[in-house]
Order: sequence, then C-alpha cells, then structure tokens
Amino acid sequence: MPESRVLIIGGGAAGLSAAIASARLGVAVTLCEADARVGRKILASGNGRCNLTNTSISPLAYNHSDFVEPVLGAFPYEAIRSFFADIGLLTRADDEGRVYPMTNAAGSVLDVLRLECAHLGVETRCGFEVERISEEPGSGGFEAFSRDGDTVRAEAVIVATGGGDALLAGLGHGLVGTGPVLGPMRTDTGPIRGLSGVRVRCSATLFAGGTALATERGELLFRDYGVSGIMVFDLSRYLERGSVISIDFFPDVAPAELRTTIAERCTSLAWRNAETFFAGMLHYRVARAVLSTAGVNPDTPVEELPQARLAALLKDFRLNVTGMGDASQAQVTRGGASVAEFDSNTLASRHMDGVFAAGEVLDIDGRSGGFNLHWAWASGIVAG
Ligand SMILES: Cc1cc2nc3c(=O)[nH]c(=O)nc-3n(C[C@H](O)[C@H](O)[C@H](O)COP(=O)(O)OP(=O)(O)OC[C@H]3O[C@@H](n4cnc5c(N)ncnc54)[C@H](O)[C@@H]3O)c2cc1C
Repeated sequence: MPESRVLIIGGGAAGLSAAIASARLGVAVTLCEADARVGRKILASGNGRCNLTNTSISPLAYNHSDFVEPVLGAFPYEAIRSFFADIGLLTRADDEGRVYPMTNAAGSVLDVLRLECAHLGVETRCGFEVERISEEPGSGGFEAFSRDGDTVRAEAVIVATGGGDALLAGLGHGLVGTGPVLGPMRTDTGPIRGLSGVRVRCSATLFAGGTALATERGELLFRDYGVSGIMVFDLSRYLERGSVISIDFFPDVAPAELRTTIAERCTSLAWRNAETFFAGMLHYRVARAVLSTAGVNPDTPVEELPQARLAALLKDFRLNVTGMGDASQAQVTRGGASVAEFDSNTLASRHMDGVFAAGEVLDIDGRSGGFNLHWAWASGIVAG
C-alpha cells in the first residue's frame, strides 16, 4: 500500500496553511505550485507589510456570511494570531485593528510558513502547474498531471489555486462569475477634472437604482480615471451596473448646520468671490470642482452664490461609476467555485469525496484590512 498522501494545489496563503495543518496530522503532504516560488501574493500584500488578519474578524464582513461562519468560528482572530505565534511570527495590531508582522515585512510571514512546512516534511514542488486531476478508478485516490507530464498521486486533494478555478470546474464544480473587486473605481471624469492626487477625509455611499448599497468612511483619493483609497476598495465589493458614488465632504456636519455655516460665511466673508469663498474650509481644488459642478463662475460675487445648491453638493457630490478602475490594483477576485457545493464545516466537496477547497478559489471575498488573508489561513487550516 502506498503511504497516505495529501496533495495541495497552490502555494499561496491558503495552500501553505493547509500544508501545515495536514502535515501536523502525520500524513505525507505534497504541495504543487505553478510559480517558481510559493507565496508571491503574500509578499505583495499590505503594500509589502502583509496585513494578515484583523482584531474584528466577523462573518458579516464577507459576501457569504453563513458559509464562512463555521470556519471563522473554529479559527477566529485569536486562533490565527496564535497559529502564527506558534510558528514564530511576532505580530502587532494597529489602531484600526489591522494585524501586521512586528518586522513590518511580508517576507517574515512567508519565511515562517516556509520554514514550518520544511520542518514538517512538506514536499514542495514549484514550477508544477497542475493541468488536470483525475480519480484513480477503484483506489479512491487521485492523480494530478502537470503541464510538463509530471504526476503526483494522493488520497485527498486540496485545491487552493486562488483566482484560478479551472481545476474545480474540471471536477464538475459550478463557478460563479469572476471579476476584480476591492480596488479603485472608474467614474465620470468631468466633475473631478484637476483633482487627481487630492486626498479628502469624507464618507461615501454607493447607490444603485436609488438604493444605498453601502457607506464607508475614511480617506478618498481622486485619480485621473476615478476614485481610490481603502474606503473605495471596500465600496467596490458592492458595485453594480449603473452605480453612483455620493461623496459627503462633511460627514460630521448635519445638512442644516452646513447651510448655516455657508450663510454665515456669505456674511462674514462677503468681500471674497466664488474662487476664494471656500478657502480655509475645503481643499482649493475640491472647491473648484464643486463650484464648476454647480455652474458657478470663479469670479461670481459671494452675494450671488447659490448657497443651498453648494451646501447640498458638499453633502452629496455624485459621480457615475463606470466600472472597476486599475484592475492590477484590485486585491481580490469576486466569484470562484460555488460555495453551495462545499460543506461549510470541512470545506469538502459535495461532488467528489476526497476533494477540498480553500482560500480565494471559493466564491468568498471580504472587506479590506486583513479579512481576505484571514479567510485564506482559516479555510486552509480547516481544509488541511
Ligand atoms: C496587491 C495585493 C495586496 C493585498 N493585500 C492584502 C492584505 O494586506 N490583507 C489581506 O487580507 N488580503 C490582501 N490581499 C488579498 C490576499 O492576498 C488574497 O486574498 C490571498 O492571498 C488569497 O490566498 P489564496 O492562497 O487563496 O490564493 P493565492 O495567493 O492567489 O495563491 C494561489 C496560488 O496557486 C497557484 N496556482 C494557481 N493555479 C495553479 C495550478 N493549476 N497548479 C499549481 N499552482 C497553481 C498560484 O500560482 C498561487 O501561488 C491582497 C491582494 C493583492 C493582489
């Protein structure tokens, strides 16, 4: 009888944590990674610092809350932080609950994972892109074939291929449409001409068909093609065709109070003109964009300013969203293998005994701030 072996396909966050969990059970583990090295995305995460989890992990931060609940229940924030502590990673949380390695270097996260895999005897085969998996008739096992004709046989397979879901489709799994999310958004550029590079602290709401889909608060960055920043990344998870983003430049000031402020400035600063009216209240380039959207010429006297219209625009500056912006900056792929076809407690396929999935290959995405990597580690450990 050959030894019992688990094959893990994909050496990203989910595959590496699955390898550690499987190997700790005493089974032989082979991890196949298409790339020349494992963990490339981990190195790029969190701007090279790797925001690996968050102190406020909750199922509600993910698209399929019910599905992720058992996995996150078994491996909440504390469990993932101690998983990493056990393999030698010191971590710290910032004021917003984002957890980073103490070294502030994503390489440290990958180092401890790789060292632990090696220590546990995980066989890592880089440059092995699994093209096809087939069930071995009668043996209850599987054989995986690489593009170059290499093979690995195993009793169980964990698919952790991130955005690449073709293998699960090949095993009969349904896929949910994919596309980049958690990234910048492309908008009408007319109203924001000249604003590229300007950052504002604000709140923003995404609407579709008059319904508010989500609201986020934080720092918004104007780009030449639209809007960016972590708050925009989080809103992008709710993007629908025909969405509109409404920016509130004064989220802490009630509409009536803002109207009063503008009226008072019209009296106290009556000597200014439209171009200088907002000096001291608003970034001058944002002021210019607001005035232009209101159809106000820069040399308009203050007494002629449309006060109510300007106050309304400051609370509700709307841009039509035409899609995701720079796709290379999107952190996650929306969609993947349909979660309905997996057991949410074990991540085992309901189609085929011995097949499991973990990480982003499943149709799971979460908000930014460490939630996606948390899902990758936790689901990897459960599948493992
Ligand atoms: C720029 C950037 C920054 C990010 N920052 C953060 C952050 O700070 N915090 C956070 O929580 N999330 C972040 N994310 C998201 C996070 O990185 C992903 O959610 C997470 O890495 C997914 O892990 P995974 O193991 O499921 O997939 P992946 O990391 O994509 O790993 C899949 C692996 O499988 C391999 N593979 C694919 N197909 C095959 C095949 N057929 N055979 C063999 N191998 C194969 C791939 O080469 C890859 O190495 C970021 C993402 C990006 C792009």
